[in-house]
Amino acid sequence: MNVDHSSREHSIWSSSAWEMWSRCPASALATKGIERTDSDASLRGTWMHEQAERLSRKLSIEKGSGYNTPDNLEQIQRAVDFVEQAEIQMVEDSEMFLEQRVDLGGWGHSDVYGTADVILYNEHTGMLHVIDYKFGHTPVKVEDNGQLRIYALGAIGFLEDRNRFTSTVKISIVQPMTKAGIYTDVLSADELKRWGKEVLLPAIQKAKDPNAPFLPGEKQCKWCPLSLSSSCEAQTGRVLSIFDQYKEKEDLEPDELGALLPELDLMEMWIAAKRTLALTTLERGGDVAGYKLVRKITRRKWMDEEKAEKWLAARKIPKEERTVTKVISISQAEKKLRGVLKDNAILTRNFEKLITRPTGVTTMAPLDDSREAVIVQADPLTDEFMI
Ligand code: SF4
Repeated sequence: MNVDHSSREHSIWSSSAWEMWSRCPASALATKGIERTDSDASLRGTWMHEQAERLSRKLSIEKGSGYNTPDNLEQIQRAVDFVEQAEIQMVEDSEMFLEQRVDLGGWGHSDVYGTADVILYNEHTGMLHVIDYKFGHTPVKVEDNGQLRIYALGAIGFLEDRNRFTSTVKISIVQPMTKAGIYTDVLSADELKRWGKEVLLPAIQKAKDPNAPFLPGEKQCKWCPLSLSSSCEAQTGRVLSIFDQYKEKEDLEPDELGALLPELDLMEMWIAAKRTLALTTLERGGDVAGYKLVRKITRRKWMDEEKAEKWLAARKIPKEERTVTKVISISQAEKKLRGVLKDNAILTRNFEKLITRPTGVTTMAPLDDSREAVIVQADPLTDEFMI
């Protein structure tokens, strides 16, 4: 069986681009026909998804790819294990659909579509479980996740076409690189359809309107091809207007600072895109006034570590001085001990006693961030702030 996700056709209103076109309604039509350039992260993501599908179909992992590393394989296996557990939790006779294309044809928009990684469905209970793999480090929020809700609505339609009806919808993000690994939201099919009517349909209508407005912002511009190619006038206009608005202000009030922070993300993105534009111009043999292409300075390294070690040994440098031995990292140890620690509370406790977490330096986060806020107190004697 051919498992190739790279040749898939993409809708301009694809579910995976929901963050973009729902926040900036003009973006879908404005980016129509623009070839998306693959980054290393996107190529890795595609390969990982393909291998997860292969494992679920009991096919072997594809050899010969640079992404075929022990770490990536471990993540793929964990992702597939999560799906297997979810499958077990569904009562008997459940059906599983892998990499199923789903669309909103039942809602009058068959051109809004995407591919759900895994769909589980049980006819007896009416339970639908839509699962999406994410292979990045930053946890992706499952609650109110528009991309996955579109998959779920598409899956309900796909099942209804086969006379199967859904009562409850479970939506999960399986993200093996994060602490919990799986995040799930549960809602009734009626609730999901209400969201479809009240939120999704108006968003689609706006995004299909040729006169829809451009509404720049960090979240929507982040993956927009126009932003990546540094060619969106609306985004540039927005960045310049923020600059104008704040350039004369010396002291900002707390509410002004709070309003400025998300705008800084957009400005930083705009600056980064301009730098990338200059670099790619030079890399393609073009000119950038006052700049040239150079190589970054690299660190020296042994051409052959084994040979180098032998050579140092021959020079009578003792083993402990010519080699370095380090204990493996906590996550490497966890991987090696996974089977042993699983059902052994005492061993798990002893293992945890070996671990400490240094206090992190302070940083900023939005109020809805799950981390606890740091309390700042003034020392009454010195008036210095203690955190
Ligand atoms: S770059 Fe931003 S503002 Fe411009 S079309 Fe894309 S999402 Fe909209």
